[in-house]
Amino acid sequence: MTQPLPAILAHLDETAPAARDRLIDWLRIPSISAQPAHAADCRRAADWVRAELESIGFTASVRPTAGHPVVVAHHPGPGADAPHLLFYGHYDVQPADPLELWTSPPFEPAVVEGPHGPRVVARGAVDDKGQCRMWLDAFRAWHAVAGGPPCRVTVLIEGEEEIGSPSLDAFLAANKDELKADVAVISDTGMWDIDTPAITTSLRGMVYGQIDVRAASRDLHSGMYGGSARNVLNLLTQILGGLQDETGRIQIPGFYDGVKELTNAQRVEWDRLGFDEAAYLGDIGLSIPVGERGRGALERMWARPTADINGIWGGYTGDGSKTVIAAEAHAKLSCRLVPGQDPAKVVEGIRRFVADRLPADCTAEVQVFSTTPGIEVPADSRWVQAARRALGAEYGRPAVLMGCGGSIPVVESLKRLLGLDSLLVGFGLNDDQVHSPNEKFELRCLHQGARSHARLLAEIAG
Ligand SMILES: [Zn+2]
Repeated sequence: MTQPLPAILAHLDETAPAARDRLIDWLRIPSISAQPAHAADCRRAADWVRAELESIGFTASVRPTAGHPVVVAHHPGPGADAPHLLFYGHYDVQPADPLELWTSPPFEPAVVEGPHGPRVVARGAVDDKGQCRMWLDAFRAWHAVAGGPPCRVTVLIEGEEEIGSPSLDAFLAANKDELKADVAVISDTGMWDIDTPAITTSLRGMVYGQIDVRAASRDLHSGMYGGSARNVLNLLTQILGGLQDETGRIQIPGFYDGVKELTNAQRVEWDRLGFDEAAYLGDIGLSIPVGERGRGALERMWARPTADINGIWGGYTGDGSKTVIAAEAHAKLSCRLVPGQDPAKVVEGIRRFVADRLPADCTAEVQVFSTTPGIEVPADSRWVQAARRALGAEYGRPAVLMGCGGSIPVVESLKRLLGLDSLLVGFGLNDDQVHSPNEKFELRCLHQGARSHARLLAEIAG
C-alpha cells in the first residue's frame, strides 16, 4: 500500500468547513454535568458522539453508570498485530454562568474573527469537545481515504469529568478487559503557543489535608489568661510559618525524598521557552516571585513540590472585637507533589512536622482528604517519540515537553486501574477562557490538531 498520509491530510484540508460544522453541532447541546436539569442533554451529547463514531466505522455504545453515561467504541484497525490506542475525552461541560458576561449565548456557537483567524466561541469549545473533535476528525479522514485507522482504536468518552469523574473508576475497573490498550491518548491539555506544539510529560499530584490543633479545654478571657495560657492561634501560625525556610525550601521531614533534579537537557529546553515570569506575575498584580531560590519559574511550577496553606480559622472572626484566647485552631494545607514523591510518606512527614512543634499539653490531628501521586510519562517512550515526530512535522518545529502544575485525575486512574501510560497531546491555548465566559477554540488549532492526530496515528503504526 502506498503511504496514505498525504491524501489524508489533503482530505482534512478540503473538509475543514464540515469539521467546523460538526463541532458546532455538538456544542449546541448544553451537556452540563453538574446540573440535574441537563441530564437529558448529557445523554444527548453521548448519543451524538456514539452516532458519529458509528458513521466512521466504529462499533459504539452508550453505557450506563451511576451518573452520566460513558461512550465506548472500538475499531479493529488493520488487525490484532497493530498498536492499540485508547483515546479518552469528555463530552460534559462546565456551567456557563455568569451568562451576562458572554458576548454570545454559550450554547449558540459563534464563529468570530480573532488575531489568529476565526475561532468558535461556546461553552465546551476547547474543553473538551473541540479537543475530542480533532481526533474524531483524524479517524474520519483515515476512514474516508484508507478505510480505517492504521492502529486499533478504543474510544472512551465520559460525561462527568467536570464534576470530578465520580463514576469513572468503577467503570474502568468493571470494564478492564474491554478497555485494554497499549497506551492512552488524551487531548485536554495545551500548546506552548499557537505556533509551538507541546506534549505534557509530567503532572503534579497532591496531598490535601486539614490540621486541627487544640490547646486549652475552653475559650479563655485574654485579660485573665493572656501571658500564661497557650494561644492556639499563635501556636498554629508559628507551626505553619515554619513550613518554608528563608530560601523557600519546604521543611516537612522527608518531603524531597524521591524528587528528581531536572536533567540538563530539560533545563535548557525550558530556559529556551523564555517564560516571562515578570509579566505572568504582573498580570495578577504581583512582582516578586516566591518558591525555591535559584530555580527557574517553570521548574518551580512544573517540577518542584509545594506546600500551601489554603485556609486558616479559629477564635473570633466576627465584627468588632472579642478578647478571646481560643481553644482550637484549624488550617487547610495542600501540597502539590512531583513524580517520585510518595504521598503516604508526605502525609507521614506532615504529621511529624506538626508533632515535633507541638507543646506537650496540646493536641493536633491531621486529617487527609485526598492523595494522588505525581505522574511522569518517560520522554523516551515510543509514544512520546512518535508524538514528537508527528507534531514536529505538522508545525515545522520541535514539540516542547511540558510539565503541568495541576493534576489530571484520569491519568492516575488509567495508570492505577488499567496499567496504562498516557500520552498528553493537547491543542488548547492559554487565552481559551476554559471554564470562563466566552470560552473559545481557534479553528486553526482545530485543524492543525486534527492533522497532528492523523499524523500521530501514522507514526505510531510505523
Ligand atoms: Zn474542564
